[in-house]
Amino acid sequence: MKNVLKIGSYSRESAVAVGALLVLAVLSFWGPWENQAVPAGWVRLALIGLAALASVHAPLGSGSLGLGAAALPLAVVFLGPTGAGWLAASAYLTRGLIFLLLPSNRFPERSSWRLTQTLEISARIGLAGLAAGVVGRAMAGGLGAGLRDLAILGGVSGLAYGATVVALSWVSLGSVASLLWRAAARPLGLDAGAWVFGLVLVGVVQRLGWLPALLLLAVLAIMSLEAARNAGLRQLALGQLNLLREVTRAGHRIIFRRPDIQGIAEQIHLECRRVVAFSWFQFELLGKSSIAASWAAGPDGKVCEGAPEVPDRPKPLPGIHRQSAWRVVDRELVTEEQGLARLRLWCDPRRLDPSSLALLDTLLPQMASAVHRALLDREARHDPLTGLPDRRSLERQLQRVFADCLEDGVPMAVVMCDLDRFKRINDRIGHAAGDQALIAIARLMEDHRRESDLCCRYGGEEFAVVLEHTDGETALRVAERLRAAVQQLAFVVKDRKVQLRISAGVAAYPELTVKDPNDLLTLADDALYEAKRQGRNRCFLNRGNNRFMDVEGNFTDDDDPQQKLEVPTLFG
Ligand code: GH3
Ligand code: MG
Ligand code: MG
Repeated sequence: MKNVLKIGSYSRESAVAVGALLVLAVLSFWGPWENQAVPAGWVRLALIGLAALASVHAPLGSGSLGLGAAALPLAVVFLGPTGAGWLAASAYLTRGLIFLLLPSNRFPERSSWRLTQTLEISARIGLAGLAAGVVGRAMAGGLGAGLRDLAILGGVSGLAYGATVVALSWVSLGSVASLLWRAAARPLGLDAGAWVFGLVLVGVVQRLGWLPALLLLAVLAIMSLEAARNAGLRQLALGQLNLLREVTRAGHRIIFRRPDIQGIAEQIHLECRRVVAFSWFQFELLGKSSIAASWAAGPDGKVCEGAPEVPDRPKPLPGIHRQSAWRVVDRELVTEEQGLARLRLWCDPRRLDPSSLALLDTLLPQMASAVHRALLDREARHDPLTGLPDRRSLERQLQRVFADCLEDGVPMAVVMCDLDRFKRINDRIGHAAGDQALIAIARLMEDHRRESDLCCRYGGEEFAVVLEHTDGETALRVAERLRAAVQQLAFVVKDRKVQLRISAGVAAYPELTVKDPNDLLTLADDALYEAKRQGRNRCFLNRGNNRFMDVEGNFTDDDDPQQKLEVPTLFG
């Protein structure tokens, strides 16, 4: 029951409800309103109970008593206006309490039950009952007890009831048109039919007494329960069918959308969100990998690299709830008996629907094969040591960006970088440390690049960057920033800081006219060679005709090209 007792928020409907209850309460003290031929107390109670049971099936939904409306003509005729109002209000309220006792897997309406909302609607219904009673009382004086008179009284007071229900529901629905549409599409006829049945019951009471009439009302209540159960089961079946469709669609989405690992992590996060209510998310790749091993997302839904920073406890919920601990849903994504990744969801158990976990499990194989595909794809296109795209990826990107340049007339640039005196690092602190240095530089380049740039390992200790929509001077500044960042890099091996440096050469199109984008690589390489020649740890832009410019705009002195050239040695 704890989960069901949700306190709603105060609204203008609440104001209407309070007003309605006040009207009913005040009028209750006005003696002459009450009918003198009041039936016994147990009849009143039976009427409320049976009306509540019968109104369990109310397809019009909020604001309607559905089949329970059958009890109202009895109340109008035998209880008087306020009696009819109170009966209508308490029947709706009791209906709400009956929902608490019904199993939610058969009666889905139960799971969305709110106390304040039920109180509001019962007050509105009470007012509608009162309106019907007032009209009934006004007409009763001029009418006899015949069948025709009863039909007129019932019909007109029924209209008063219906009109009040519609008018008051308008306050909450905001549009009479939408209510009338719903009334026409779903059977408001059910309420009207129940009212007519109620008139028959009035006749039964007059001829045969209360007991047969209440028995007939009980039969209607049983039929209503059965109808509500069938409607609920149908709704559940439709819901499951929709979920099944959703799972199939989700599978396709996971497999066919972005193929890179970050994209897969985002897609998996999105699909999990559709299925399970969770606050924190982690997607972790298992095994050794040169790419980030973990992605995380918090309640804001943004997927970033790294581990999630989950607070100790879930946030308190509004209303009366116990404090709760996280329920961590931990699943492994497996293909061909090999664990690929872990999926962890931090869920608030008070919000978690256990059936959603079964749905998540049906999605796991699709997620696993998407991750598998993405990893294979990545392996085929990336350098295994640094995880950067390889030379083939570079060539593809060069062709693509160059084609865009020719079409749109925008510039492009390439940067070639080479580590300075890398052989020495290998020789002095070992090849493994050299590998670590290459990985550190690759990370740094990845961190510095824009989304649209491509950094790749060109070979050995050389890296290349392709910059879209970038002219030569901007690319030179980018290269200079990269060079400075490498110089600042704290690369420590065996507690010893090792200074890393790079030199870079830049070439840009259309400043340099080339027919093939690969020629830009050669021209950038020339600028790189010039940087090495000028003493390393610097960047040059190839301006054509063997002229090279540094970041301050100075051109190299090409009178004496051998001046600073170090004689290349074969074995370093
Ligand atoms: P500079 O470029 O400044 O002229 O000097 P350098 O010492 O870097 O010269 P060079 O380009 O001739 O040397 C490149 C060295 O990089 C040679 C090779 O041992 C090393 N190297 C290439 N690939 C790898 C690798 O994957 N791992 C390691 N540890 N070393 C590599
Ligand atoms: Mg080098
Ligand atoms: Mg080299």
